[in-house]
Amino acid sequence: MEGIYGTCSFSSVPRFLIFLLFFFLFTSTVVVVSLPEDSSAIISRFRQYLRINTAHPNPDYSPAADFIFSQAKTIGLESQSLEFVKSKPVILLKWPGTNPDVPSIILNSHMDVVAVENNKWSYPPFDAHIDEAGNIYARGSQDMKCVGMQYLEAIRRLKNSGFQPVRTVYVSFVPDEEIGGRGGAEKLAESEEFQKMNVGILLDEGLASTNETYRAFFAERSPWWLVIKATGSAGHGSKLYDNSAMENLMKSIESVTRFRAAQFDMLKAGLKEAGEIISVNMVFLKAGTPSPTPTGFVMNMQPSEAEAGFDIRIPPTVDEKLVEKRIEEEWAPSSRNMTFEFIRRKVPVLPDTDGYKPWLALLEGAVKKANGKLGRPEVLPLSSDSTYYRLRGLPAIGFSPMTNTPILLHDHNEFLNQVEYLKGIEIYESIIEAYTSYTEHTRNAASTDEF
Ligand SMILES: [Zn+2]
Repeated sequence: MEGIYGTCSFSSVPRFLIFLLFFFLFTSTVVVVSLPEDSSAIISRFRQYLRINTAHPNPDYSPAADFIFSQAKTIGLESQSLEFVKSKPVILLKWPGTNPDVPSIILNSHMDVVAVENNKWSYPPFDAHIDEAGNIYARGSQDMKCVGMQYLEAIRRLKNSGFQPVRTVYVSFVPDEEIGGRGGAEKLAESEEFQKMNVGILLDEGLASTNETYRAFFAERSPWWLVIKATGSAGHGSKLYDNSAMENLMKSIESVTRFRAAQFDMLKAGLKEAGEIISVNMVFLKAGTPSPTPTGFVMNMQPSEAEAGFDIRIPPTVDEKLVEKRIEEEWAPSSRNMTFEFIRRKVPVLPDTDGYKPWLALLEGAVKKANGKLGRPEVLPLSSDSTYYRLRGLPAIGFSPMTNTPILLHDHNEFLNQVEYLKGIEIYESIIEAYTSYTEHTRNAASTDEF
């Protein structure tokens, strides 16, 4: 397959290497200037998308939707907007395949990004500034506006090269992933429209890799947000007595801390990956009744209530009943006047790995063909919209093509290097080509009738 800036004599040379040649021949002080013309346009479109502020708590999706529609139009993709929840559009683009009977593929990304602390950033988080090393700084540069735009750029190139997919390709841009996906992916996954799309495989976000190996995720840990509450007698700050709310809560925190350390030790020792251990982190503490005075406050009261909140992540391989038992018996036992509630509790999904095998094999081959290397499939340590599809039995693979990149999602100074970004487009070209041409094991790979 020939790309839009390949020539006959270059067709066997990876475009990335050609780009590097340009890069080293013409790099002076400003890296952007040295980019080949097509790459400059590609980077400029990426930066345009990054500059649209879709940060929580009040993401405005309409400029993002307009931008995606305009891109779809220039590429020649069908587009529609589904509004399951008011002002939260789900954008669906379609590239029809030559065989509509074969299950389709869907390339998913979320339009929203997490909030920023402006003053902690070296460059304004919605300027998409490029530094001299070619790093593009912006909220969403890794999570995951890069992936959404890479899908489109890869499709643009494939279309320009004359490639025709056998399977239909859908590209979905969804809202609200960062606040749980209930108004976006969950609604889409359970919709009649989605049934009609006859999807066989979904690609969604993964994580950057700090080395040269790309990472793929076939499952993820489930978030449990647990609040434990202790009660006890109130009393004077000077009095020693048993069973105060603070004492009861402290015993629980000590127990959680021991458990956390044991899990963390396995990770530190390299015995398990991050996606394979149960993580627990205390995220809030609420207790105490300081009495304000005109000059400050006095602290002579022991409170009758004390609360703590924990973010717990459960790998799909863990029996959730055992965790429940631990919470009931050790972290919030009624014998210590404690209660607990879940603010959020997602069911861990252990996917049917057989359904993934052909897709993971295709992914590995496609990445290799584009001169990349794929590591063994992992469990994503955090959660993503893929859950809603896996719950329905659909294979969903998390994959964000970023190598040699520090993991900066939700962090200050999130960035992605433009060379990595361009390389990712070639990786997706190869993947889309492989996935949409693959029909041999369609029945095994996409048993949609079992859902
Ligand atoms: Zn994300």
